[in-house]
Amino acid sequence: MTRLLIIGPPGSGKGTQAHRISKHLGIVEISTGDMFRTHLASGTPLGVEAQKYLDAGDLVPDHLTTAMVRERLQQPDLKNGFLLDGYPRTVSQVDHLDGILEETGTALDTVLEITADDDEIVRRLLLRSQAEGRSDDTESVIRHRLQLYRTETEPVISRYAGRGLLVRVDGTADVDHVTAAALKAIETALADRAG
Ligand code: ADP
Repeated sequence: MTRLLIIGPPGSGKGTQAHRISKHLGIVEISTGDMFRTHLASGTPLGVEAQKYLDAGDLVPDHLTTAMVRERLQQPDLKNGFLLDGYPRTVSQVDHLDGILEETGTALDTVLEITADDDEIVRRLLLRSQAEGRSDDTESVIRHRLQLYRTETEPVISRYAGRGLLVRVDGTADVDHVTAAALKAIETALADRAG
């Protein structure tokens, strides 16, 4: 059973790495951004409600996000563990997640931070917007998401660092190197905890 959290700014390659790492470890990937985009694409009431926040690059309100995560973390497919991507993004979500995990009798094993500087982030996301056309990848919305990351999500990282759970890799290396470094960092941290 391995329970991981991945945190990084938009454009750090967090989603790509989450996908590779969860596949390698045989654990379920839970991405709140993907979950919202799926709701949006299928026009569910949650998708309709979330759309304005996603388009503006704002955080979807906690009562919606946390309910969605709580429900997901109670599903029976998580017996090998999970990799959470995109939640918690604020310190109040850290408290909510602590509560959810306590209810289910689990806790996080390791938190992986993927770093990238602002210029590289904006460059990558503008490229992605040409390729994928995500509605929140315009320059002003990107800068807003980045600012929210600095003000709301960086304090989340400090919290987990304070608990001794944080490992960090540089997200600006090429994709395979980042994956290799991330797996190594995770495996070392898990072994340290087990030993
Ligand atoms: P990125 O990390 O590139 O900004 P994500 O796919 O993780 O992209 O998230 C896209 C959007 O989904 C966010 O801008 C936000 O509107 C919404 N979202 C995802 N996770 C959360 C969360 N934990 N709390 C609030 N909103 C969220």
